[in-house]
Amino acid sequence: MTTLSIHNPATGELIIALPADDAASVAAKAAAARAAQPLWAAFPLARRKACIEGFRTGVVRDLELLAATMTRETGKPIKMSRNELNGLLPRIDFFLQETERSIAGETVFDEGGMREQIQHEPLGVVANISAWNYPWFVGCNVILPALLTGNAVLYKPSEYATLTGLEICRLLHEAGVPRDILVGLVGGGEVGQALLEQEVDGVFFTGSHATGQRIAQAVGQRFVKLQLELGGKDPTYVADDADPKAAAESLADGAMYNTGQSCCSVERIYVHERSYDAFVDAFVQTVKSYRMGDPASEDTYIGAITRAPQLDVLAAQVADAKAQGAKLLLGGHRGEGPGNWFEATVFSDVNHSMELMREESFGPLIGIQKVRDDDEAVRLMNDTRYGLTAGVYTRDEARAKRVLSQVKAGSVYWNCCDRVSPRLPWSGVGDSGVGLTLSRYGIQTFTRPKAWHLRQPA
Ligand code: NDP
Repeated sequence: MTTLSIHNPATGELIIALPADDAASVAAKAAAARAAQPLWAAFPLARRKACIEGFRTGVVRDLELLAATMTRETGKPIKMSRNELNGLLPRIDFFLQETERSIAGETVFDEGGMREQIQHEPLGVVANISAWNYPWFVGCNVILPALLTGNAVLYKPSEYATLTGLEICRLLHEAGVPRDILVGLVGGGEVGQALLEQEVDGVFFTGSHATGQRIAQAVGQRFVKLQLELGGKDPTYVADDADPKAAAESLADGAMYNTGQSCCSVERIYVHERSYDAFVDAFVQTVKSYRMGDPASEDTYIGAITRAPQLDVLAAQVADAKAQGAKLLLGGHRGEGPGNWFEATVFSDVNHSMELMREESFGPLIGIQKVRDDDEAVRLMNDTRYGLTAGVYTRDEARAKRVLSQVKAGSVYWNCCDRVSPRLPWSGVGDSGVGLTLSRYGIQTFTRPKAWHLRQPA
């Protein structure tokens, strides 16, 4: 039997070896989901909502246990694990409140005996292949609206967040979602590949650009709905009228929260030359106060790096920046093992010939670059193949809007960063992906709007 070994990234210790799926079990589960889906879709919405309400109750009841599990398998500091679970609750509430309105049938024309209507039908059976960094958020952004709108979901959590993925399944099953309607799959990339070979009606992926490309190629011949939520190299500009200390404190958190392993982490900072020195100084002071250590400890801010190979990516970006003349202000080294550790690292005097200003770092590493004016900031912010989020710090709303309207990104921020709202669509431009989750559009995306042309007999 194949097994999946799960390790604690903070200690390297084996947590558990789980029985894993293989091609045959994935095919059997997909067939069972296909058979079960029509009955689930035929239930009144109220019945599906009751299951999601039960799930919410389970999350609240088991919150401490769920947070500890996530911290153990991902290295996320325990306070941030609790924050993610508490942050999930308003998302659940949003989906519960908005689904009915978002997929209500509409009459768009009614004249002379001719009626035109739109009705939202579920896609059918959808695949959800998911990342490990915010496993509750990225898992549930797909699973909950997909279930509410009548779909069956074949869910492959990341191998680095499998225990959390199985907890999501457990709580939904306990709340009444049939086992063939939400199906958890255990395994690594090969199980994801096996899933893509099944007859599914939609593929919803959250993860890296490289895997997203492979997934697009794998499903490219099949004409199924494909959503890819990928990485970013998210920039922020600090204008000369912003309070440099307040901006530095906010952006240090935006860059280092979750040990820099957020899709919308601040990854590049541009600062107007007039406030550059004050900003850099305050930024370094703030990051110095972040304690790295045992993720289970209440005062830890910098946790473990979840995937060991990312340590090499970070070390290579540091070496490249140093070789090209960047100034290392803080950190720059791996922490001592066991486990995967990397110090919070800050560079100034960077430029766009350096990898750390071009490619996703996905760790506690940031470059700060001086700019002359808003135009230079906009040009540099757009000098990327990604486009997930971008932000500006300034006292002047009109100036912020001028800058942000020129920036290519799915989400833009004024005087804030690293923020996701269930009420707003979450999407990327360019290599940050296609499609969206959250908001009413992120509910409708799990349906097919069917057009009805109805003529009354004369
Ligand atoms: P990966 O791309 O490594 O993995 C994502 C998922 O794909 C995992 O479940 C993985 O399985 C699976 N997978 C890997 N290879 C294949 C394959 N050939 N076929 C099918 N499935 C496969 O990403 P990470 O999990 O490391 O997540 C980090 C990335 O996700 C970052 O780039 C981050 O920016 C991005 N992200 C984007 C978000 C957004 O909203 N735009 C939100 C969160 C993260 P396994 O892990 O088991 O190998």
